[in-house]
Amino acid sequence: DVRVRFAPSPTGTLHVGGARTALFNWLYAAKEGGKLILRIEDTDQARSTKESELEVMADLAWLGINWQEGPDVGGDYGPYRQSERQELYKKYADQLVEEGVAYPDFCTEEELSQMKRNAEANKEPPVYTGKWSSASKEEVEEMFAKGAKPAYRFRVPKDKTITVPDAIRGDVSWNTDTLGDFIILRSDGSPVYNFCVAIDDALMKISHVIRAEEHLPNTLRQILIFQALGFTPPVFGHLSLILAPDRSKMSKRHGATSVTEFRGLGYMPQAINNYLSLLGWNEGTEQEVYSLDELKQKFSLDRITKSGAVFDRTKLSWMNGQHLKLLPHDQVDNMITHHLMERNLLAKEESPFAQTAAEMLRESVEVLPDAEPGFKHMLEYPLRETAATDDAKQVLDDNFSEVANAVLQAWDNGEIQAAVQEKGPAGFKSWLTKMGKGLGRKGARCWMPTRFALTGSLHGCELPQLVALLLSEDGDVADKSLIV
Ligand code: GLU
Repeated sequence: DVRVRFAPSPTGTLHVGGARTALFNWLYAAKEGGKLILRIEDTDQARSTKESELEVMADLAWLGINWQEGPDVGGDYGPYRQSERQELYKKYADQLVEEGVAYPDFCTEEELSQMKRNAEANKEPPVYTGKWSSASKEEVEEMFAKGAKPAYRFRVPKDKTITVPDAIRGDVSWNTDTLGDFIILRSDGSPVYNFCVAIDDALMKISHVIRAEEHLPNTLRQILIFQALGFTPPVFGHLSLILAPDRSKMSKRHGATSVTEFRGLGYMPQAINNYLSLLGWNEGTEQEVYSLDELKQKFSLDRITKSGAVFDRTKLSWMNGQHLKLLPHDQVDNMITHHLMERNLLAKEESPFAQTAAEMLRESVEVLPDAEPGFKHMLEYPLRETAATDDAKQVLDDNFSEVANAVLQAWDNGEIQAAVQEKGPAGFKSWLTKMGKGLGRKGARCWMPTRFALTGSLHGCELPQLVALLLSEDGDVADKSLIV
């Protein structure tokens, strides 16, 4: 049975890297008819918070990533918070001590730092060279009798090659001598992170560990613990880093990095999931836009790539636009007007004015906040800017000002308003045709200069609709100062 897990440390928000790990595990479980287990890795009591745990869970839920076992939903292999599993770790540590696989280490801080300095001076790996790995029973008992509190170290086999067949990276090998005996229980009795993870993955019967590349060095320790306790290790797969556009590790200085931030910026969960799915995975076709259902069917571990994937905000925005286009028009329009209301640009959500504005913005919006400048631009009319810019001159003919003058004159004497009042956008169209005829112009030679005269731009939404919109009840615009 496929049993995968997402194991966040609740020390902050859900980063896009964590979200991708959760997504890949979720997709794999869904594809294989397996289960996703949520495990909260809160052994670092100083940094773990309840708020962070709740926030991570809320972000996952918002993305549509659900789990079948976890601290909130329970399950047969709980508890699902490491802080509630301390006795289990203690029990297995005792077992290893009993078997001589782990041993008490009474070295002082000073002795340990000296060991480190010696290794550094000799350019050797900083491995444990203390005497307690081979201390006699009597020596150990003497220390206990004195009331000394030891840490416990795992006895790492000497000069052995450990090979992990990584599902993404192929075989990864280490020589155990680079590692040295490592601590599993600190002198205050608290278990170390790698020990907890190995015990949990074993007891929770995890079949596949899919996680970030940065955990690869932990795998060696975890495998050794698995082997020592007689558990079969899971299949490992380490995902490459998510990189910033400059190919450095993605961090705060590159802008938004957490799911909460992206939600605040107006990105939709389906777009974020789709975008993250392509950071390190592809189906091998040209297709880029996928629904979650499609991803669930098509996802596979063997198409995960080894190279780092660049997080490109522009591409994410494009993806969001693609997912907006998959929604029914009226739903998108409602989202746009709702957004404009929230930003205090519209006074009423449901009005013909709001409706027309949304319809006109719909095509150009990738992420909802895009509607804001578009909406403001619509209200800036007429620009009365008859001096053409260089760009405009390429498109407009030399005599374009004869059109512009005719348009502005008609605007000022109310002709355009009258035509629109009578027949709406169609009224503007007939006025335009008539005006063109008078000047011997038709088609683009007529409406391009008109658009430019009225809006100061060569592009934009349908002109007749725009003019009608602007001339309609503008009582719906929240911020009157926007109306020129
Ligand atoms: N708790 C670890 C983290 O948040 C994940 C460890 C793992 O997946 O093995 O990075």
